[in-house]
Amino acid sequence: MSLTLNWSIKRITTKFEFKIARSAESYYDVVILELSDGDNIGYGEAAPCKRYEVGPEAVLGMLTDKKDQILTLSIEDHENRQSALEQLFPDSYSLQAALDTAFWDLYGKQTGIALWRTFGAQQKMVLSSYTIGISDLSVIPAKIEEAAPYPILKIKLGTDYDHDIMRAIRAETDKVLRVDVNEGWKTLDDAKRGAEWLAQENVEFLEQPMPADQLDDIAKLREFSPLPLVADENSVRPEDIPGLVGAYDGINIKLMKCGGLTNARKMVDLSQKHEFDIMLGCMVETSIGISAMSQLGSFARWLDLDGNVLLSNDPYQGVGNDSGTIMLSDLPGLGVSPR
Ligand SMILES: [Mg+2]
Repeated sequence: MSLTLNWSIKRITTKFEFKIARSAESYYDVVILELSDGDNIGYGEAAPCKRYEVGPEAVLGMLTDKKDQILTLSIEDHENRQSALEQLFPDSYSLQAALDTAFWDLYGKQTGIALWRTFGAQQKMVLSSYTIGISDLSVIPAKIEEAAPYPILKIKLGTDYDHDIMRAIRAETDKVLRVDVNEGWKTLDDAKRGAEWLAQENVEFLEQPMPADQLDDIAKLREFSPLPLVADENSVRPEDIPGLVGAYDGINIKLMKCGGLTNARKMVDLSQKHEFDIMLGCMVETSIGISAMSQLGSFARWLDLDGNVLLSNDPYQGVGNDSGTIMLSDLPGLGVSPR
C-alpha cells in the first residue's frame, strides 16, 4: 500500500510564559505530521528551536518541496532513511525528527510492538523533572505551587538576578533542583562562582553553564566544579559526543536537536561508550514528541521530559506523567492519539 503524508501547524500555549536565558515565549507553533499506509497513522512532530534552525513556516515549505521523495523512504530500514532525511533536510533537525518519528510510529503499528521494546529499553524509568522558567520574582510562588506534584524541579538561570531567583525558590521549597544556564554565564570566573554557590543549594547538576563555543573554558570549569556538568547546546548531533570528553559529565539528548529516534538511539550508544551519564530532554512539545523520547527513557540517568505538561492545550495524549513518573504503555508504536 502506498503512503500518504499530511501536515498541519498547531499552536500550543504554555501555562506560564516560558522564558530562558536567550528567549521568552507564551506559545509555540509546531508542525504535526500524519503518515498513513491506509490502515495505520504514524504521528510525528517538529518543534523548531530558534537556537538551531528555521521556523515552522519554512518547515512547511520544505515538506511541500520534498513530499514525493519522502513518500519513497523505507519504513523498516531506519539507518538509510535517516541518512536520506539528513540529505533532504540539512537545515531542519526538527523536520528530520518529525519524519523519523512518524516512520517509526508507523513501523511500530505495522509490527504491533511498542517502540520501547524494539529499542531494547525497559518500561520503568527514573523520575522526570519539571521546568521552572525565568520570570519576575513575584510569579515564582505560583510556579512552585503549580509544580507541587513534581519532586524534582529544573530551574532556568543565566540572568543578572540569578541569586534573587534562587532565594525566591528556596523560600518556597527544599526540593532537589537541577539548574540549566542555557549558555548564560559568559566568563569562566562567573561560571566558577555560580558552580560553587549552587553546590550549596541542594542542586544536582549544572546544564550548559557557558556558551557552546567556549568549550575550553567549560573543560576548565569542570576541573573546578563541585557539581556535574551536563552538555545541551554542545551536544546536538551524534558526532558531537566524542569531542565533549573531559568537558562534561553528562549529555542531554533531544529529538529536535539530533533529528529523531534513530539518531537519539545512536547518541545513547555513544554516550555509554564514552562513559557519559545520559539525560533525555525536550523542547516545548506536545505528547507526540514527549511520547517518542520517552521510549528511550530507561537508558537515562536524568529525565527532563515535561514539555507536554507545561502546556495548557496539548492536542494529543500518549505517555502518562503522574507527578514526574512517566508511564509507557504497551500500545504499538508511540502509543499516541489525538485528544
Ligand atoms: Mg538545556
